[in-house]
Amino acid sequence: MPDGSTMNPITKIGDATIIGDLTTPEVSTFLDSEIDLIWATTMRAPGGKEKKGKKSKTSWIKYKARLGNFIEHGLSEHPVKKEIDGLSFVYNRAKEFPGTCEIGGIRYPLAYRTANTAEAITALVIDADEGDTLDRVIAALKPLGVLCVGFTSYSHTTKAGPGEDRFRIVVFLKEAFELPESGEERRQALNVWKRKYVGFCESIGVTTFDRTGMDLSRLQRPPRRPSEDAEFKHYIIAGTGLDLDTVEDGDPTKYGKKEVARRSGGLAPVEDEGGDAILSDGFDVRAWFNDVGSACMFGDVLDMIGWETRTGDGAEREIMCPNDAAHSNPGDPDDTACWIKEDTDEGFRIHCLHDHCSAAGVHTWDMVRLIDKAIADVQIGLPDGYESFSDVLCDGTFFPDEIEGEPVELSKYDYGVPEPAPEIETISTKGKVKRLFKRLSDPSDKELAALYAGVIRGGNKPDIVAQLDALVREHGQRNGNDVQRLRKQGRELLDEWKAAHAAEKQSARSELIRESLDREDIAHSSLDPTGPLGDTMEEAIATLGKRYAVLDMAGKFRIARKPDLDAFTSETQDPTMIFYTKQDFIDLHSDRQVREGKEETNPAKAFLDHQTRKSGLVFAPPPVVASPTAFNIYQGRWFEAEEGEWATIRDFIFQIVCRGDQKKYNFLELWMAHMVQRPGELPGTAVIVRGEGGTGKGTFGDILKKLTFPHCKQLEKESHVMSNFAGEHLSKCILAVVTEAVFGASPKVASELKAMVSSTTMQVEAKGMNVVTAPSYLRLYFDSNDEVPILIEDNGSDRRWFVMEISEDVKQDKDYFLKLRSAMNGDEMAGFLHHLERYDPADAGFTWSDVMKAPETEERRVMREKSRSEPMQRLIDVLGDGAVDLRVTGEIETFTADAKGLRLPVAPFREFLREGSRFRNRLDIVEMFERLHPGVALGDGQGACGLLKNTRWILFPPEVLGTPVPETDVSEAAGS
Ligand SMILES: [Zn+2]
Repeated sequence: MPDGSTMNPITKIGDATIIGDLTTPEVSTFLDSEIDLIWATTMRAPGGKEKKGKKSKTSWIKYKARLGNFIEHGLSEHPVKKEIDGLSFVYNRAKEFPGTCEIGGIRYPLAYRTANTAEAITALVIDADEGDTLDRVIAALKPLGVLCVGFTSYSHTTKAGPGEDRFRIVVFLKEAFELPESGEERRQALNVWKRKYVGFCESIGVTTFDRTGMDLSRLQRPPRRPSEDAEFKHYIIAGTGLDLDTVEDGDPTKYGKKEVARRSGGLAPVEDEGGDAILSDGFDVRAWFNDVGSACMFGDVLDMIGWETRTGDGAEREIMCPNDAAHSNPGDPDDTACWIKEDTDEGFRIHCLHDHCSAAGVHTWDMVRLIDKAIADVQIGLPDGYESFSDVLCDGTFFPDEIEGEPVELSKYDYGVPEPAPEIETISTKGKVKRLFKRLSDPSDKELAALYAGVIRGGNKPDIVAQLDALVREHGQRNGNDVQRLRKQGRELLDEWKAAHAAEKQSARSELIRESLDREDIAHSSLDPTGPLGDTMEEAIATLGKRYAVLDMAGKFRIARKPDLDAFTSETQDPTMIFYTKQDFIDLHSDRQVREGKEETNPAKAFLDHQTRKSGLVFAPPPVVASPTAFNIYQGRWFEAEEGEWATIRDFIFQIVCRGDQKKYNFLELWMAHMVQRPGELPGTAVIVRGEGGTGKGTFGDILKKLTFPHCKQLEKESHVMSNFAGEHLSKCILAVVTEAVFGASPKVASELKAMVSSTTMQVEAKGMNVVTAPSYLRLYFDSNDEVPILIEDNGSDRRWFVMEISEDVKQDKDYFLKLRSAMNGDEMAGFLHHLERYDPADAGFTWSDVMKAPETEERRVMREKSRSEPMQRLIDVLGDGAVDLRVTGEIETFTADAKGLRLPVAPFREFLREGSRFRNRLDIVEMFERLHPGVALGDGQGACGLLKNTRWILFPPEVLGTPVPETDVSEAAGS
């Protein structure tokens, strides 16, 4: 901590002790001046370490601020920070780099950090790590009246020797030290800078400074310390800027710093045993490297592309190995085996100590190629303004101003990148021939041939050709043979050019069409096949993509009209799917051509040329998975779930539909959640809600439809169940809602519906196609005011029916239903759907398979009883009693069972069963019995039975007598 006797602390800013008075007019004026900096931030993952596989990106920002603000925000705190967070400064006014970067909501221009592009130096920074103390230096600085910030460095407490400090001094300059842009003047300026730098250090007695501090691109980190209790020193000396003119020159060579000189001698090529190193655009890295590339300031290149530096910075540092993937520890962020070094004489080198790199002979140029590969693989990006890595490698910014006395001017076309073909301009006037010829100073054959190509393109007029011939002979120094050759070359060039342009145009068109195929946003809203397609090719293609799928239908090429799901939930019974042949499809659209350039084109042709073929049509709701090559008719739910309250809907379902019965509610919730989460599984159970009109049965049906829309249908008439195309419609449904009007009218319809509940398939007939069998995922909801909406048999099949009687509590209650409707049309419905989507059957003690067995309800028991016909009821009673009184030849005779069973005369027993019933015509006792006891054999014969001597009799075996009707799980026969 500061020694109060030698210092004169007035106050503090942040963690820094102020020495002197910052408020004097001179100091205030200087603090109000502006300073230029390069502000570098590396975006790292929290904690400072880079996440594996995630590249940190350094942004170099051109930053200009009031000096006082910069000191306060950038240099007055001394925080505890274990990791380098990437924040650092270069005290330079930098050249702007294309692009901007946002920090804290403000956009800053990017900056070049390269030594070559620094425009001026704005502060003198001294790094001292040994042989000195900060307090001594501060005491030496104080009398100078110069504004400085001095602070101990991060490693001060751990690495400083006894009686020594490790510290940094930032001395602000009165005026920025300007650096001429290039050439001899810049070299001289740099040498002046180094002499002044050394002179200043010596003037305050600092002789053990880090010589790289005088480098132009040296990064300086702001103060930080490793722990709360780590000792640190931090001062700000009040003063004005340092005037370098008052500083005596020093001798940089004493500190191992050479004068900046011209590069001398050839660059020693690296031992050359490696194979080719060609970049993605054909650039030959080896040729470049051995020519001038090794003089490239590659550290700056790495900084600019944001290549990961592991330790160090500038011209010598450890980096992520470009060949990292070949290491035994790929992705290790702590691996520092790969280093880069720029050497004034030898050029730059990248070398990695790993066996896969060093022993395998991976040379610097291979490393450069691997960086290019990382760019091609989009692991790392190129800054704006560069098209390829070879553009960066040939950017003079990254080279010394001169090499061997020659200014550096590089062209990637000199290192294997194919030159783009010359543009061919149409030439049809003498004036243009002259003008274009004049533009060429020393025309190459290719340039002259391009002129001939232009003349041919312009109609090959003889006078123009003659004009060009003359120019080529006189000024192009070519002879007659050359002219003949150039003409021929021109013709070839034009052919190539035409072909290239045609291909380019064609591929641009294809690209456009392919991109438009899935663009619902520009498609016409109507699915009507005769509706407009749109004005442009893009719109037309988007519309066709929305309306049609291109299919292989069992070996036939067909275009399928996608089902209009909006239409198919409505009244219409037209088939929703229609299949066209290729010619029919093209003819259908020939009235809606679109303009492409000068021509009118039928977009249907372009559509068929580009749309991906599907291998068929499927209806595959989850968990069924459609093959990626098939067209899935299942569109999902159009209604979207969102977490929220749904109390009104829950109250209606629980209190009204389930009459407050928790057991019923639990199963109904399971059934609905199954429909929502597993629509592609047939539950085999149907929900029946019966009750008076106006009680809410229909409203509940509407809730169910909302949960499945558009894959639901309200069955309103017989044809919705029985017509040819009914299966085609229903095969795309998860749910059908049926009302009394449909199933009550016809036993045939009722029987068809009953079969649908458990049938796993459906017959589908689409227009123009054969009838096919499709899987069925149809659930049925019956809304009924009949006492017995469906006849329920006693053979165990009743478990497919979940029967409830709706409460009449809110019957005709307009306000209640108004509120409920508004909940259904608003956020509550989304909340309800959200609840069902997340429902877990285990929470209610269920598994999903429990949905296949509807629990018994009182309503079902009553319905089952009422379903029995009177003769059936009598038969059950007789079997239960094991005895019956029959009228035989006018007398009443009692028949009772014995050990063999109950033997009864057929004719009188039949009379007994149908007494008073409406089954007048036909009554088959055997069939009735089989329905009660499937698989049990009934005895029969001719002969004596009771008082009758010779009659037909039947024998009910003992095992069916006196016992209740068994609940077996036998498939129900159609019919009642
Ligand atoms: Zn390596």
